[in-house]
Amino acid sequence: MSAATRLPVADSPALRRYVKQLARRHPRMLFGALGLHVLAAVAALAAPRLLGDLVEAVEQGTTTGYVDRVLMVLAGFLVAQTVLTRYARYVSQVLGEQVLADLREDFVDNALSLPVGVVESAGSGDLLTRTSRDVDQLGWSVRMALPEWTIAVVTAALTLVAALSIGWWVALPCLLGVPPLVVGLRWYLARARDGYLRESATYSAISASLTETVEGARTVEALGLEREQVARVDDDIRDSYDAEKYTLHLRTVFFPSMELSYLVPTVATLLLGGWLYTRGEVSLGDVTAATLYVQMLIDPVDRIVSILDELQAGAASLARLLGVAHVPDDRTEGEARPVDEQLDVDRVRFSYDGERDVLHDVSMSVGVGERIAMVGPSGAGKSTLGRLMAGIHPPREGAVTVGGVPLVDLPLGELRGHVALVTQEHHVFVGTVRENLVLARPSADDEAVLAALESVDARTWVEALPAGLDTLVGSGGRALTDAQAQQVALARLVLADPHTLVLDEATSLIDPRAARHLERSMASVLEGRTVVAIAHRLFSAHDADRVAVVDGGRITELGTHDELIASGGSYADLWESWHGRG
Ligand code: ADP
Repeated sequence: MSAATRLPVADSPALRRYVKQLARRHPRMLFGALGLHVLAAVAALAAPRLLGDLVEAVEQGTTTGYVDRVLMVLAGFLVAQTVLTRYARYVSQVLGEQVLADLREDFVDNALSLPVGVVESAGSGDLLTRTSRDVDQLGWSVRMALPEWTIAVVTAALTLVAALSIGWWVALPCLLGVPPLVVGLRWYLARARDGYLRESATYSAISASLTETVEGARTVEALGLEREQVARVDDDIRDSYDAEKYTLHLRTVFFPSMELSYLVPTVATLLLGGWLYTRGEVSLGDVTAATLYVQMLIDPVDRIVSILDELQAGAASLARLLGVAHVPDDRTEGEARPVDEQLDVDRVRFSYDGERDVLHDVSMSVGVGERIAMVGPSGAGKSTLGRLMAGIHPPREGAVTVGGVPLVDLPLGELRGHVALVTQEHHVFVGTVRENLVLARPSADDEAVLAALESVDARTWVEALPAGLDTLVGSGGRALTDAQAQQVALARLVLADPHTLVLDEATSLIDPRAARHLERSMASVLEGRTVVAIAHRLFSAHDADRVAVVDGGRITELGTHDELIASGGSYADLWESWHGRG
């Protein structure tokens, strides 16, 4: 997969806009959670102040009654803090889950509105990684890292305010901790990512060369490669050792610098406070409270720093998830509406990779109610042409129109009422039988649903299900046989009621017994519709009004069966060889 075909990644402004928009969706919970965290943090801040006052009182002589009262108040604040923290966390968790649900829904919306062509060229792998790994990573960030980080920021900010409220002199020791913190952090973050990536890459390399050596042990022995293999593994281990030594070095610099930035302020507060006290400028209670506050800062600051990494990973995942929304749509919804059901392919060129054309200047008109069979060698472009005729891919040049309107200008819902592609790949969605059917036409009532089932010969078995239309099917529900699943798909098609059907059975081989059974259902679906059938068995071409031979991305022959036989072209040869065999 080349970088050019990867799905895009959102940039930082888009990320910020989205986060703001997410926050606006749950204002009450957001402010509720923040408010509770603030209250909990404030309750926690009472302790140092009270202890400071206590020290002050003890120094000046006091009664045990006073000490008891202070302790009671202290206990009260502790209880309040505990209760508030509990609710603050509860609200944050619920908020986190809701935000996550929003994210998933938005992502599914974006993924579903991706142009099919883009999903195909980017490969579903990228999309799958984003749905699984990135959603997991983000889930972790939203559930754990983000609330923890918010709490830590709120606590740190309030603690700082409380510390400064004792006197501006407390700012000085706090500032002393900033340079080692900032320098250490920047130094570490600039190196850590690559360091750890390299470390895990060397682990993969070791296990790769070990597995290779073990799996190919015979070959290694036979060719006398033992020495080389041992040397290779030794090399890998040496690389890994170096990588680990490097990250260890990062930690031996980073952690001490953090510890330093935590300890320096505490010590400095004590020294500065002590000095000011001896000069009679501050009270002993103030020095006590200030020191306790500064020490209380350590824990939230440490959490802010350590969660930063997680948040960065979360932001990267979010950018990848949002990127999916940034794929330009290949459909442009116009105002024009088809005047009839005439399907025209006009000088169409198409390429999957933007380099090699798969269809070259293809033109064909399909009359209303006509049946066309498309035949030709495998890889000729039949399925591709079928997909263009069903409006799945837009042509690179030329146009595919229904009633004079390009298919790509029709809203998807409306397009499906005109043309639909039918393949052997059918999907039973998780839900009831009814839900599986009304997908195609949400307004359909039970009568219409049952009529659709009846027309494909499926009403009897559906009504015999334990809960009839309400029976749960799809993964986890009742298992349907292949033929039943196909009938459900056909009934869905009957409900969508497209005028033109493009039938492509290229992708899978159906069991002949099931095929016969389905033929009747199929026949009733086809009745009264225009049909373009990509025929893989030549005899179905015989029944068609016209046959189109596709070869090398071009329509090489087009006419009735008899005309083509008479003209003695490749179709006639094919027919001959089939007939000879049949
Ligand atoms: P047919 O249906 O006649 O067997 P296709 O339309 O499937 O032919 O394929 C026509 C050409 O387009 C082939 O060369 C095939 O390799 C290529 N092709 C088909 N599908 C894709 C795809 N999704 N991405 C890239 N190339 C494709």
